[in-house]
Amino acid sequence: MAESLELIASEVRSCTKCPLHDAGRTHPVPGEGRHNAQIMFIGEGPGFHEDQSGRPFVGPSGNFLNEMLQMIGMRREDVFITNVVKCRPPGNRDPEQIEIDTCTQAYLHRQIELIDPKVIVTLGRYSMALWFPSARISHIHGKPRKVGKRLIVPFFHPAAALHQQSLRDTLLEDFKKLPEFVSQVAATWDSDSESEKPDDQPPQEAQQLSLF
Ligand code: URA
Ligand code: SF4
Repeated sequence: MAESLELIASEVRSCTKCPLHDAGRTHPVPGEGRHNAQIMFIGEGPGFHEDQSGRPFVGPSGNFLNEMLQMIGMRREDVFITNVVKCRPPGNRDPEQIEIDTCTQAYLHRQIELIDPKVIVTLGRYSMALWFPSARISHIHGKPRKVGKRLIVPFFHPAAALHQQSLRDTLLEDFKKLPEFVSQVAATWDSDSESEKPDDQPPQEAQQLSLF
């Protein structure tokens, strides 16, 4: 079968590649949205509601994400939403490095390649760390960095913002800048994609340090 988001989703739904496959998951959650979305949101991993439904960001964090999208004139259907790991870590524990490595190599990088988004918004520190492993989210949130031809924009996780008013305000402010980031990168997209190789792999440490 030719590579496609549907193929990736079907592989995710029967995946047994990492320990999260038998750690109590109900439904693996491949992700959803436009196949050619300009913006891709990457969260951490499915929570209770996502595990129950098989869909990303459908609980309280998802409602908040929907509200923020609406605030900037976008709908969920316009973007692509997924997670670093596709199966729920038991009790919402943090995903382990081996689970992150296995799952992103198997699925997330292929999804990014196919969707080819101009902007990747990382929600929380696990997706941020795929590109900027040594960065602190409190330092770099809301600051877009070019990696290859894309902009990677680290945001706080909506769940963290739901529990802390100051983070909520920060996240809302960061969100309001998103349309501008998309137009910025869209303006340079064509010339860049000819002169630079697409780069979906995390940059090396030395490169990153100069970024912030
Ligand atoms: N939190 C996440 O990181 N992802 C989801 O899909 C839901 C909540
Ligand atoms: Fe497979 Fe990813 Fe689920 Fe692990 S988290 S079992 S790698 S789909």
